[in-house]
Amino acid sequence: MAQKIKPKNSDSESINWSNIDTILLDMDGTLLDLNFDLHFWMEYIPLAFANKHNLTHDEAKDKLFPIFRAEEGKLHWYCLDYWQEKLQLDIAKLKEDVAHLIQIHPFVLEFLTQAKVHKKRIYLVTNAHRKTIQLKMQITNLASYFDDIISSHDYNVAKEKQEFWHKLENAIQFDKTKSIFFDDSLSVLKSAKQYGISTVVAISKPSSKVETKQIEGFINIETFENVFSINWIKKSDLADKEKVDNPLKPDIINVI
Ligand SMILES: [Mg+2]
Repeated sequence: MAQKIKPKNSDSESINWSNIDTILLDMDGTLLDLNFDLHFWMEYIPLAFANKHNLTHDEAKDKLFPIFRAEEGKLHWYCLDYWQEKLQLDIAKLKEDVAHLIQIHPFVLEFLTQAKVHKKRIYLVTNAHRKTIQLKMQITNLASYFDDIISSHDYNVAKEKQEFWHKLENAIQFDKTKSIFFDDSLSVLKSAKQYGISTVVAISKPSSKVETKQIEGFINIETFENVFSINWIKKSDLADKEKVDNPLKPDIINVI
């Protein structure tokens, strides 16, 4: 008897793609591996700070981590200029030093390609600073997939706040009942849900170096492989199309 193949993640069946015309996507941890950001803030910045002030790496971490924690979730947590001023370090230059760690998550390119084929509106919606976005788009070449790139710094309010979503709706005129939003931050997911975005999806594995962690109260996906809808695209068809259109496999693109 033929064995039934279960979907990897039954949550993906909860997404009704036929009712969705707009896709809103976070950047760090959602489309891109959060390993870059975790390494940068938790290891590389303390190292640069230690060198500047003649401290050990651990002494620098003890000094910096409480400062970081105090600013988490506020807009200036994401602001390069703020940290440049506060730490007296060239943050943009330091990011370039470890830019080889900027990587696209698995199945993101396939997902974005199919979203475009199906004429969805696609927006990058991030708390990242414009200088960080510029560096990451330069490394990943993702910019052409988006109808627009929205930084919360443009609105002067982070995604964690309701005001951000009002400003976003005014700017891009999306119908929240026909929109889907992906993010890896619990406070941002809650904020999007509170605003009324009809489908809000949590990324349960934002970093390739951290174990999968379910986020309660939301549809969870580990990778974008889990959101290919049966109604949307058959993965076997996609694999054949990929061979013709794009001889570079995503895992190879990631390391270029
Ligand atoms: Mg994120």
